[in-house]
Amino acid sequence: MMKIKNVSIIGLGYVGLTMAVFLASKGVRVIGVDVDKEKIEKLSRGIPTFYEEKLEYLLNEGIRENTLEFTDSYEYAISNTSITFVTVGTPLREDGSIDLSYIEEASTSIGKALKKKNSYHLVVIRSTVIPGTCLYSVKNIIEEFSRKKAGIEWGLCMNPEFLKEGSALRDLSKPARIIIGEYDKKSGDILEEFYRQIYSDVEIPILRTSLSTAEMIKYANNAFLATKISFINSIADICEKIEGCDVVEVAKAIGLDFRISPLFLRAGLGYGGSCFSKDIKALIEFAKEVEACPILFESVDQVNQRQPLKAVKFCEQLIGNVKGRRIAVLGLAFKPGTDDIREAPSLKIINELLKRGANVVVYDPVAMEKVKRLYGEELVYASNVLECIAGAECALIITEWNEFKKITPQIFKEYMRTPAIVDGRRIFNPEDFMKAGVKYMAIGLGFNYSTR
Ligand code: NAD
Repeated sequence: MMKIKNVSIIGLGYVGLTMAVFLASKGVRVIGVDVDKEKIEKLSRGIPTFYEEKLEYLLNEGIRENTLEFTDSYEYAISNTSITFVTVGTPLREDGSIDLSYIEEASTSIGKALKKKNSYHLVVIRSTVIPGTCLYSVKNIIEEFSRKKAGIEWGLCMNPEFLKEGSALRDLSKPARIIIGEYDKKSGDILEEFYRQIYSDVEIPILRTSLSTAEMIKYANNAFLATKISFINSIADICEKIEGCDVVEVAKAIGLDFRISPLFLRAGLGYGGSCFSKDIKALIEFAKEVEACPILFESVDQVNQRQPLKAVKFCEQLIGNVKGRRIAVLGLAFKPGTDDIREAPSLKIINELLKRGANVVVYDPVAMEKVKRLYGEELVYASNVLECIAGAECALIITEWNEFKKITPQIFKEYMRTPAIVDGRRIFNPEDFMKAGVKYMAIGLGFNYSTR
């Protein structure tokens, strides 16, 4: 099979852009396409549109080496490449079901561009889509607009993405596995060969499935991880009602059972980000639509919706009514290593504090700009940790950034008006705070913990 040297990527968000720079760094010539002209202009100048480790460096390297270029022209991208990856967004509609309009628009544009191309082309859907989307929607739309038959003049694969924001480029360099859902054998063979070339130096399991199975695998994967998080948060809720009990020790112990594993067992303020919450909701709606049972996933979602508000409840338990009082919010990104605030617990917590009349001062090492755009003058923006906690009556740990882990009880005592800490991510040793006489509450920590 011929070596594939040119690919296009449609949709330059977290998934598309990281994939583009990664493939370019492997010597593939990548043409990135987006409908957002401002984004194309910025990326072409080497300015990343979000924060991710190594992204800026690899973006500029790709541009310099001529392996990476950006355009809003589908026709240019498709006529100059042999594989097109589709990584457009798949958000939720008001009713919680998946909105496939970006996928449909992208499929229409691909179809129109394919009509003008004379050679075989492979289309690979990488966005998260509910089972049946590739076979019934993408395939039919592309056939209609290209007037070309799938499996003959062009190929179709579903290749779900499993990267984690914050370690996206690392994840791409050694994925745990690659799933190739294929419309026909030829399509799967081409994509498998492409990945074997990219990962020639590492052993990566490649699983070949039907299109619908590949679509389902992505949902099953995210639903399982979200379930683990809501499971440990439900255990944490019970631990909080038990004298001397600590969910961190419970999680450590059960995580040693190899059937359970320690990952995704950190109790906290719930999961956020663009995927888990959206995918669980889409799965619930899809299960209802096909008359399958959604109750486990409904519970996972409900537990997660309650979890962030615990930070506000603990704050009030420590200091009483928050009205007119300065509350420090440490961490805004939905997790460390990213500036993504989509579905971040911080936003629900800030909204609740503002509703109750608190003076909210916030700090995050990378996500300040995005929060500023949402809240403007409603919040006070600190430029570092100490400025954030200075004069505050309660500090809430919302994201587990490493720099927050270094704050000692003495520092809180020195800078805050009255030190009271809500450890929403279990980054501190409770005993240090008890010994220092600092008011401290944490997710999953039983009452009278210090007396055990
Ligand atoms: P995003 O919203 O960050 O980016 C989507 C991009 O697509 C935007 O730049 C938008 O302008 C562009 N776009 C929309 N319609 C277009 C069109 N018709 N033609 C060209 N470009 C178009 O989305 P994301 O976070 O990168 O996610 C993309 C997909 O991957 C989603 O289905 C998501 O569920 C899935 N996914 C995301 C992650 C993640 O960590 N973010 C991980 C795995 C899978």
